[in-house]
Amino acid sequence: MNYRGRFAPSPSGPLHFGSLVAAMGSYLDARKRQGKWLIRIEDIDPPREVAGAADSILRTLESLGFEWDESVLYQSTRLDAYGEAMNELQQKNILYPCFCSRSEIQALGVAGAEGVIYPGTCRNRPISRSNSGAKRHAIRLITQDRPVIFTDEIRGTISQNIAREIGDFILRRADGLFAYQLAVVVDDAYQGITDVVRGADLLTSTPRQIYLQQLLDLPTPNYKHLPLVTDKNGQKLSKCLGSDPINMTNPVAVLISALSFLNQPLPPEHSASIAEFWRWAIAQWNHLRTIDPK
Ligand code: GLU
Repeated sequence: MNYRGRFAPSPSGPLHFGSLVAAMGSYLDARKRQGKWLIRIEDIDPPREVAGAADSILRTLESLGFEWDESVLYQSTRLDAYGEAMNELQQKNILYPCFCSRSEIQALGVAGAEGVIYPGTCRNRPISRSNSGAKRHAIRLITQDRPVIFTDEIRGTISQNIAREIGDFILRRADGLFAYQLAVVVDDAYQGITDVVRGADLLTSTPRQIYLQQLLDLPTPNYKHLPLVTDKNGQKLSKCLGSDPINMTNPVAVLISALSFLNQPLPPEHSASIAEFWRWAIAQWNHLRTIDPK
């Protein structure tokens, strides 16, 4: 199958070094395999978005010499497709409304792979139809008590029992917004993505995405999770935490730092042009080297 990769930033701020590393890893992997590389702007969470961030991310990528194939897909244009996927799951009777507040869930206190495990409180709660419409509620997906296993091409075999480690998870939030897990699965399939290369912060999300792909009868791409860039306190860099935008005064130096973080051989001359940088980086790319970050 022809390789199709993607970079899928959320427009919650300008591109920072951590997202540049994810963009570069996915780009190099796609180009090395003579594949296509697409950009998808994941703008389905307006409260977390910053005006102008999507354009700023695209402009920065362009100035750094990234070239994307096909037009940019904006998730805000795909709400009907997410609604259809929800209907499909609804017909299988594996969704339920959840009225728990964040503090109620926190109070139950069992820590899991990502925050507190949802204990399934609303799964068996009898709700009359009129009642369920009256109060704002999230929609959760019933998970199964079995491991979801996949092979990450960098990290090897990964196994997660979603029911035990995460719990039934949200597909539509109480504020009516679709969850990332649903949108990403629908759109990776819609864009024909064969290979997902992204930061290791999403490793614990991948089993949920594979579970959804199976339920929706969608193909599972290959996955490679790159080492995560953290700040000096060991925190993931994120646009929400206001991580510094990239300083574009010397684009080649910025590219070289990202390549160095990915533990790849660096071009011999630091004065290389952007085009020379990319020729070198694509020719040298080996995703397995990234497992051993500097
Ligand atoms: N939009 C997500 C983020 O910016 C990434 C989604 C993905 O690569 O699957 O963290």
